[in-house]
Amino acid sequence: MLLQENVPLAPLTTFRLGGPASFFVEAKSSGEVQEAVAFARSKSLPLFVLGGGSNLLVADGGWPGLVLKVAIPGIERRSANSEGKALFDAGAGESWDRLVSHAVMAQCAGVECLSGIPGSVGGTPVQNVGAYGQEVSQTIESVEVFDLQDAQVRELCSEACGFTYRASIFNTTERGRFIILQVTYALTPGGEAYIEYADLKRHFEGRETRPNLAETREAVRYIRARKGMLIVPGDPDCQSAGSFFKNPVLSEPQHEDLQKRAAAKGLPLPSYPALEKSRKVSAAWLVEKSGFARGFGFGHVGISTKHALAIVNRGGATAAEVLALKDQIQQRVKEIWDVQLEPEPVMVGF
Ligand SMILES: Cc1cc2nc3c(=O)[nH]c(=O)nc-3n(C[C@H](O)[C@H](O)[C@H](O)COP(=O)(O)OP(=O)(O)OC[C@H]3O[C@@H](n4cnc5c(N)ncnc54)[C@H](O)[C@@H]3O)c2cc1C
Repeated sequence: MLLQENVPLAPLTTFRLGGPASFFVEAKSSGEVQEAVAFARSKSLPLFVLGGGSNLLVADGGWPGLVLKVAIPGIERRSANSEGKALFDAGAGESWDRLVSHAVMAQCAGVECLSGIPGSVGGTPVQNVGAYGQEVSQTIESVEVFDLQDAQVRELCSEACGFTYRASIFNTTERGRFIILQVTYALTPGGEAYIEYADLKRHFEGRETRPNLAETREAVRYIRARKGMLIVPGDPDCQSAGSFFKNPVLSEPQHEDLQKRAAAKGLPLPSYPALEKSRKVSAAWLVEKSGFARGFGFGHVGISTKHALAIVNRGGATAAEVLALKDQIQQRVKEIWDVQLEPEPVMVGF
């Protein structure tokens, strides 16, 4: 285990800002994870588990403890389960997009719409990553974890992970308890690509044959790049944590109230059914219709020129500047639409 001190975290995040970690370890195996935890405990250091750093806002003061980067590699295909699904075991430190590419090349369906999402395999169950109509909760068979409560390695089945929209036990009820070591995905061999989301349907409009998995993956990456939601080196709109706010899930009365406010301004409100008796509305729409258009901002921090939902570091930004813009957006959206936007990225060291 190579222990480093005072390691800058900004280069390890997609936002590329924030201060250093007092101590830093990269763990390439379950054993190294456990060794790092034992070190943090022996020194009474607060522990932060880092994946690909694509969903984080790190404080300017950094993290006053140990940052443990989970870098466990490996993708392995096991024999099919009882339902004929192909099982893929992936180390938590693997690149998520590499796993998707692997699955698509093996003609296995279930994650093709999640192409191009940055970050690690281990990060995907945490907020139940989703895009273009798919969520990892639909394909996660089990998650192998190190339980910090009793220092045991155990396997959690999908139901035990408590997946809902952008949530699981890992970022709600059991936050900070588990370190994810490996995730097993159950994919459909020879399955068809899932093309239900409007952007994807539009992309393939007029086509007579059904797009295959590889074409769907390519289309998703193309659409994402146009929205600044694919990490493309040199694209200034990519220095972000992706969507900065979750799409609010409103009760029917709240949704009706919002619809009335929108109608009073002559604006059609984009929304779609969420859970029973609730509707999800577009956070990007709320942000844009509150005076924060694409490209808004001045100085170091602004809104992506390609997508209203991404706050971007235009170069040299501080976490304090990002928070100031976040507060401004939340306040305006609340004033105009009476909706409280909830940030998506994890705040580290605040
Ligand atoms: C350009 C861009 C586009 C994006 N698009 C999407 C999208 O379409 N859909 C979507 O859902 N998200 C999206 N995201 C957000 C992000 O990519 C995902 O949430 C991703 O899964 C985060 O994984 P990570 O490895 O980078 O985690 P990190 O950012 O490193 O960490 C995020 C959280 O997960 C925890 N964590 C990470 N690894 C582990 C582990 N092994 N064990 C325990 N806890 C762990 C961390 O402690 C932290 O709380 C986007 C981000 C960017 C920058």
